[in-house]
Amino acid sequence: MWVPVQIQGGHYNPAMSSNFHFTFQNLKRQLADVLENGYQCTTCAGYVELKRIGLPPLTWVNRVDIDVSVPKAGRLAGIFDELGVKGTFFVRLHANEYNPFSFENYKVLKAIRDAGHELGYHSEVIDQATIWDEDALACLRRDVDVLERMFDIKVVGVASHGGMTGLNNLDFWNGKKPSDLGFAYEGYDEEEEFGLFNNCYYVSDSEWTRWKCYNNGQLVGGDRRSIGEHAADKHPLLHTLIHPETYFDAHFYE
Ligand SMILES: [Zn+2]
Repeated sequence: MWVPVQIQGGHYNPAMSSNFHFTFQNLKRQLADVLENGYQCTTCAGYVELKRIGLPPLTWVNRVDIDVSVPKAGRLAGIFDELGVKGTFFVRLHANEYNPFSFENYKVLKAIRDAGHELGYHSEVIDQATIWDEDALACLRRDVDVLERMFDIKVVGVASHGGMTGLNNLDFWNGKKPSDLGFAYEGYDEEEEFGLFNNCYYVSDSEWTRWKCYNNGQLVGGDRRSIGEHAADKHPLLHTLIHPETYFDAHFYE
């Protein structure tokens, strides 16, 4: 069993060849550590189902936002497969950074789907509505329809992407409930059926070079501990959000 070594204010020592923290190898060790702490992993859609029947004592909701790199999303799925866990991968349709229908990306996303992971819609509907002068709801319906046809799936979940427009795609949900539009959840929605963010320990790599975490929706200032370290605290509901492009084999610029 791998034993974490804490150095430099609580960062894991990758203990192998890399000087860097956010390696695929280190991530895999940390996620394995979550499981060794007794967590049961689930997707976002799986969380909705489990919540209905009663959550396990230690529940880990595994979310991935594909902001930039589909190939690296494939790498994360490979790690999940090796660990025997499922995750939810939110897919953008309007990224400058990737085309989900490119030859390689489509292949990777289909493989993620076929491995039993959830594909969800990474929403940029306020950006679309503003830039294109279109109705946000119409944009949402069209995108979800496209994503469902692309991958022959039923999209049950939406998560809002935070891009570079200065607009907040989450604003779309002001005054709307996901269930009103036929969805099981939105990533941050606080409806009774989901209500995840304000009731969990949330650990994210969204600052790229360091972790940040929220306890029941409140930022825990200065807490840069990693997923593995938080798992050791055995928070009953652990929610991780990771981005494929954060991770690398040897260094960020490879
Ligand atoms: Zn995003």
